[in-house]
Amino acid sequence: MESIKKLIRDIPDFPKPGIIFKDITPILGDPAAMAAITGAFEKAFEGLKPTRVVGIESRGFIFGALLARAMNLPFTPVRKPGKLPYDKISVQYTLEYGEGTLEMHTDGVTRDDRVLVMDDLLATGGTAAATCELIEKVGAKVAGVGFVIELAFLEGRAKLKGRNIVSLVTF
Ligand code: AMP
Repeated sequence: MESIKKLIRDIPDFPKPGIIFKDITPILGDPAAMAAITGAFEKAFEGLKPTRVVGIESRGFIFGALLARAMNLPFTPVRKPGKLPYDKISVQYTLEYGEGTLEMHTDGVTRDDRVLVMDDLLATGGTAAATCELIEKVGAKVAGVGFVIELAFLEGRAKLKGRNIVSLVTF
């Protein structure tokens, strides 16, 4: 995973002053890195017997959809408000400033599902925790939560306490 770390680009003050944005587009441009990432998640999660992958908008779609294909599992998107066309459920969560909302189609997961939640990056953990809540609202189980990058100094793991967390690269 050291070679993948080298493909993550720091962009200071994006999208606002004080944030160091972790740009993963060099990873997307490297097929061997994408294969290594998908393989690492597959190996880490196969023992959990998942039945579905949920990807968080938007970079979670990329890694989540690849993992779903590799594991031959269905994929479900969790999106920002106003994007999904069918009947949906939603969850509110706290952002650094104000509130955020995430939505999922009512038929996105079923009660019997054991779900893998995927995003590109774990920061404060609010987004992933809200997604887990959304899945559990339907009565499904969260089998594991996967991130390519973990910003450990933000302690996002605290919001996901008791869950199976896999992160491939830590800063
Ligand atoms: P959080 O809810 O704080 O864990 O934030 C995670 C979400 O915000 C993920 O969907 C990330 O893509 C995005 N994000 C947060 N901080 C960064 C960062 N420094 N660089 C890139 N993406 C970030």
